[in-house]
Amino acid sequence: MDLYFDNAATTRLSEEALEAYIRTEREFFANPSSIHREGLKAHKELERNRERMASLLSVPPSSLIFTSGATESIAAVFSSLLLSEPGKAIISSVEHDAVSSWIRPLEAYGWKTARIKAKGGIVRKEDLASELTPDTRLVAVMAVNNVTGAVEDIKGLAETVREYERNLKHRIFFFADSVQALGKIPYDLTGLGIDGASFSAHKINGPRGIGLLYLRRPEAFRALSPAGGQEKGKRGGTENLPAIAGFAAAAEKWLTGTEESWKRIRALNQMVRDTIRELGFSILSPDDGSPYIISFASPLPSEVYTRMLSDRGICVSSGSACSNNTKGEGERILLSMGFRSSEAKQAVRISLSNESDEESVAELAKAIKEIGNGR
Ligand code: PLP
Repeated sequence: MDLYFDNAATTRLSEEALEAYIRTEREFFANPSSIHREGLKAHKELERNRERMASLLSVPPSSLIFTSGATESIAAVFSSLLLSEPGKAIISSVEHDAVSSWIRPLEAYGWKTARIKAKGGIVRKEDLASELTPDTRLVAVMAVNNVTGAVEDIKGLAETVREYERNLKHRIFFFADSVQALGKIPYDLTGLGIDGASFSAHKINGPRGIGLLYLRRPEAFRALSPAGGQEKGKRGGTENLPAIAGFAAAAEKWLTGTEESWKRIRALNQMVRDTIRELGFSILSPDDGSPYIISFASPLPSEVYTRMLSDRGICVSSGSACSNNTKGEGERILLSMGFRSSEAKQAVRISLSNESDEESVAELAKAIKEIGNGR
């Protein structure tokens, strides 16, 4: 099997998550909304998993809504805004497409939008402060950038918003897309002082098609589809209970013993960085970023370099494209971070998971050395 270093795109389902998925599918097959005994049993299991997740994230269970993934969690927040009084939305220029694609619909619904720059991937408090106006209703800054792993000072940015908000009659909704933060950096949701966050299970060896929306005040939120009344009317549709159990099992593994995992991953990250530096390529990921993501400017167009690694049985991602469906998106993000056009076009992203080991990273380093300048 190929060596896999595209974990920021998705991870392999862990044995624990798969086991929880199968067991839950077998034992709790009924609809959690049904009122017969099997339904009640499934409902209890659903709430037990919500409590597990809430305890891992140190938030009240009532603040967590299960969704089909981060994209839906984000869509729920933004569509809820579209239904409310228009104002100004301040969005960082380095957001994932799942967030930035909402700028146009917001504008179509009469919202003013501002994109705050993020040099080197980092949004500065002063830049956010200078955009805040009395009609601001939303600020969206991602916790960890998916292209370079840059970690934002979410707490500091949220404090800037809270300070400004003191003279306003309304609250500004602070949203942090937290997909690449879960289990990968210290992340205390309550302490951050944010209003909403999105998560996807498949980034931490959980199943695909299941995610979370954290809402500090769910009562103020208008659901995309209240039909069916599930998730206390905040997300209609029959809950994907086996996937939810798989998510909780994956989260349990990722969110406990984290210090030890981070130490190990930081060492692997250093191995990759040393190899890249030896060859004289520039590293695009900040030194203090997420240890799980290393992007660098390869000597060739990123698709070519990625293909050369793939031919050697190694999966990485082209930092400029990010995915086949959003070509050019990664490049746009890197340019907005202030990288040169050649760096953005030749960017390659290596992303680790807790399953990555020294042996496979050594193979990766060997392949990178063998390719060298590619000439
Ligand atoms: N936000 C970030 C930062 C991501 O990295 C991703 C996925 O790559 C998403 C949102 C979307 O997640 P999903 O495809 O699981 O909905």
